[in-house]
Amino acid sequence: MTRPIRAVALISGGLDSMLAARLIQDQGVHVEGLNFYTGFCVEGHTHAIRRHDRDRPKRNNALWVAEQLGVPLHIVDVVEDYKDVVINPRHGYGQFMNPCLDCKGFMVARAREWMEQHDFDFIITGEVIGQRPKSQLRRSMPIVARESGAGDRLLRPLCAKLLEPTLPEREGWVDREQLLDWSGRSRKPQIELAEAFGFEDYAQPAGGCCFLTDPYYSRKLRDLWQARGERRYELDDIMLLKVGRHLRPRPHFKLIIAREEGENRFLQGYRRAFTHLEPVTHPGPLCLLDGEASDEDLQLAARLVARFSRGREAPSVTVAVAGAGGADRRELSVPPLPVEQVPQEWYIT
Ligand code: SF4
Repeated sequence: MTRPIRAVALISGGLDSMLAARLIQDQGVHVEGLNFYTGFCVEGHTHAIRRHDRDRPKRNNALWVAEQLGVPLHIVDVVEDYKDVVINPRHGYGQFMNPCLDCKGFMVARAREWMEQHDFDFIITGEVIGQRPKSQLRRSMPIVARESGAGDRLLRPLCAKLLEPTLPEREGWVDREQLLDWSGRSRKPQIELAEAFGFEDYAQPAGGCCFLTDPYYSRKLRDLWQARGERRYELDDIMLLKVGRHLRPRPHFKLIIAREEGENRFLQGYRRAFTHLEPVTHPGPLCLLDGEASDEDLQLAARLVARFSRGREAPSVTVAVAGAGGADRRELSVPPLPVEQVPQEWYIT
């Protein structure tokens, strides 16, 4: 070969993929990063919305990692294609609604396509055997390689020595001896290697990068499908599951109530699409109503919104109710619903 060997690294924004890419860079291979936007990513806008997250860095961790490594990053929007992974995972879900094994297969398959289109030689991922249940079990590794079509062009530098040699190792594009043999859940080796490389700041090593591993988020997603009577979603649906307090007082509608100022501002953008309620006489949260509501339901919704306003102890709170885009605006004066009349099962979060 006359050109340098080129590898595409899946960059999630976490430490493992960062270390894996760096190990291969250090062997003189040209590395570029690939990051897939699924809509379920934890980083990004949610930290920018909520006030209590304001001390966290407002950064895209994948871009930040690429910058630390000095490699170009290609961010690919896979929102549409990823739906099938979440809705119909062939290998099922993990502990919550996380279809990790299918997700890995999907991402490596997309990386393989990218590799072929851009004339790269192999793919790098930051997997470690036994690090996460199911998707990183030793027996899952060949499944991902096979089902993605990547075969032995898929190299996992952090645990390569525990696996069969791949094409890049056999061809001498990388030195297997310089790869690692990590397994298990301990994060100690990652942290030590990060220090050795001089990486002082990186995303929480054990932190999930995807909302599908969150029990509350998963519950809200299941509730959404159940209320709709079908398993489908749009990007706005999954964005809204990340924001606000979700309550379902009746099977045919739910309320999304802002928990703080940042969420209030974010939900404002959805007033054009949803019936919405907001206290007028007292400071309080904006609330979106998802579903169909009768006049009686709107009364109940207004009482709940009053309950979460500063007028919760007042005899009456006036709540403005309007249809999507502000249609049919009216004001309802209602007594706030006492806390003991809000059953726990109404809370989806
Ligand atoms: S945690 Fe989320 S992004 Fe990561 S493999 Fe599982 S489903 Fe995919």
